[in-house]
Amino acid sequence: MFDKTERILVAVSGGKDSLALWHILLMLGYQADALYVNLGIPGYSDRSLEKVQRFADLVAKPRGALLHVHKVEKEEGAGIQELADLVHRPPCSVCGTIKRYQFNHLALEHRYDVMATGHNLDDEAARLLGNILHWQTDYLEKQGPVLPASMEGFAKKVKPLYRLTERELAAYCVLTRIDYVVEECPMAQGARTLLYKDVLNRLETHSPGTKQSFYWGFLAMQGRSSLHPQAMAASDQALLHPCLTCGQPTVADHCAYCKLMARAKQTMSH
Ligand code: SF4
Repeated sequence: MFDKTERILVAVSGGKDSLALWHILLMLGYQADALYVNLGIPGYSDRSLEKVQRFADLVAKPRGALLHVHKVEKEEGAGIQELADLVHRPPCSVCGTIKRYQFNHLALEHRYDVMATGHNLDDEAARLLGNILHWQTDYLEKQGPVLPASMEGFAKKVKPLYRLTERELAAYCVLTRIDYVVEECPMAQGARTLLYKDVLNRLETHSPGTKQSFYWGFLAMQGRSSLHPQAMAASDQALLHPCLTCGQPTVADHCAYCKLMARAKQTMSH
């Protein structure tokens, strides 16, 4: 995924997984800075930022690591719920588009070699289940712990915690006294991912090891097939070109972020 000569940008949310990841990387001596995207969700965003800031002050800064903060209300002109209302899309879809764009943008602007997220085994198994249930083969092809930089304009993405469960990461935070935001993002209520996680947990209770064999089995199969993300990255190159507005890679004339922002601005002006 990376070595100690490379500069890593960790996406932190204030939750246990991302703070555990940042902590592990710093303790192991990696060069790891972080980005927190403040979504402008009343109450929740302030509480998460407080946890991230505290961690940065106590653990990261003394080790020479930086925290970048991106404020959606300031940069995109409205909080996540308001933007979602303006473009008539679910908040999580708007959030995903903004976070992916800003994470990639900052990584390229500050020349980070790799972007890391705190996705764990439970997240990846639930995502795999969702992709299979709906036969989203495009997503299946790109699901993996390492997504290489596909061309100039997309930074490499890794998920170093993909082998660890949520419970293991919660235990790590307790043992290392990491103070994280325990509550879920209020927008997650009713999200299908939570249902898939619940189903997988029930299977796990009856048959321990199910999540591991499900996800790791998929990765083993993927490694033997043309679905491997390394192979996909090569085929992606042919389809991608710079967005006409911002220059980030896209398969259309304008990238998803620029289309989203153009639509939001158009609605705001009416
Ligand atoms: S639950 Fe939705 S809005 Fe909240 S952080 Fe996750 S994707 Fe974003």
